[in-house]
Amino acid sequence: MEQRITCINCPVGCRMTVTLNEAGEVLKVEGNTCPRGAKYARQECTLPLRMITAVIPVENAATPLSVKTASPVPKKMISQVMEALKQVQVSAPVSLGQVILPDVCGTGVDMIATRPLA
Ligand code: SF4
Repeated sequence: MEQRITCINCPVGCRMTVTLNEAGEVLKVEGNTCPRGAKYARQECTLPLRMITAVIPVENAATPLSVKTASPVPKKMISQVMEALKQVQVSAPVSLGQVILPDVCGTGVDMIATRPLA
């Protein structure tokens, strides 16, 4: 089985072909110009990861707070993470990088503030 993937690690945007066996294991990656592309393709075919960004309301502020995962989490967890964020209650002040939701959905990754809020 073959899968076509475009590398998003730099503006070149190499188009790669990934060959997988029936168990879904990557056999080879072709079309990448550098090792970063091969690594990305293998990750994308086995356990795709994404940074998640969102905006949540703050109880005592008119401005909402933008948050993001501190590092990428499995793509299949996006809807669970967004649901978990609906339960979060935050009050100002918030500092840049403050943990808003630790270990979101058991991923081991914290949801953090991307800006301060007075
Ligand atoms: S494979 Fe390397 S050169 Fe090609 S898009 Fe990815 S990072 Fe850029």
